[in-house]
Amino acid sequence: MAMETPVLLGQSHGQRPIERLRLTRGPVNLLLLGGVHGDEPEGFALVERYVREGGWRALEGLASLFVVTRVNPDGCAEGERTNGRGVDLNRNMPTKDWTQEARAPRYFPGPSAGSENETQILMNLVEELKPRAILSAHSWNPMINYNGPCRKLAEAMAAVSGYVISDDIGYPTPGSLGTWAGWERGIPTITLEVERGLEPEAAWRVHGESLTAGLLFAARNVQLG
Ligand SMILES: [Zn+2]
Repeated sequence: MAMETPVLLGQSHGQRPIERLRLTRGPVNLLLLGGVHGDEPEGFALVERYVREGGWRALEGLASLFVVTRVNPDGCAEGERTNGRGVDLNRNMPTKDWTQEARAPRYFPGPSAGSENETQILMNLVEELKPRAILSAHSWNPMINYNGPCRKLAEAMAAVSGYVISDDIGYPTPGSLGTWAGWERGIPTITLEVERGLEPEAAWRVHGESLTAGLLFAARNVQLG
């Protein structure tokens, strides 16, 4: 099966293209994201490998799977958490609790809510697709964080990977995708935190099939929570 031509969504601050792939076709939309934080290669390399390996073919006819492997291509190229002008994109979404205060410089939320190209591209994509679920791969302490009505979806992934699930990582994350999409819009949103430092091969063994399990669960079930 030939992959469709990627669609250019826009450019990063550093003028790198941000593209979306459409891997399968079906009656509901699912969105898989990587590389929101450019210093978390365990997450975005996993998504890139997932695209190459093709486990997503199981979704054909069940769901349209859209993928952005690098939401923050500047950060991914530079190995930085933030985008090309030092903004943490997962603190820049225009949530009700958005704040200018940052826990540390690397969490700089931007000059205003939704100020960044990358953020606007992501917002537009979510509004266009109205996905039944969003899966975004990061890396940190190993866990499956779920925001919005998707506890069962998190459990379906955890059944394969053995990761713990949580709807609270222990501190507030104003401006995050999970808050914007999950809590404020009721779009089931999974933030997969791959164990920081996990070798790519090991990350693939742990998570390759869990991504398919989660996506299939979301494709087949209307209620994910
Ligand atoms: Zn992250």
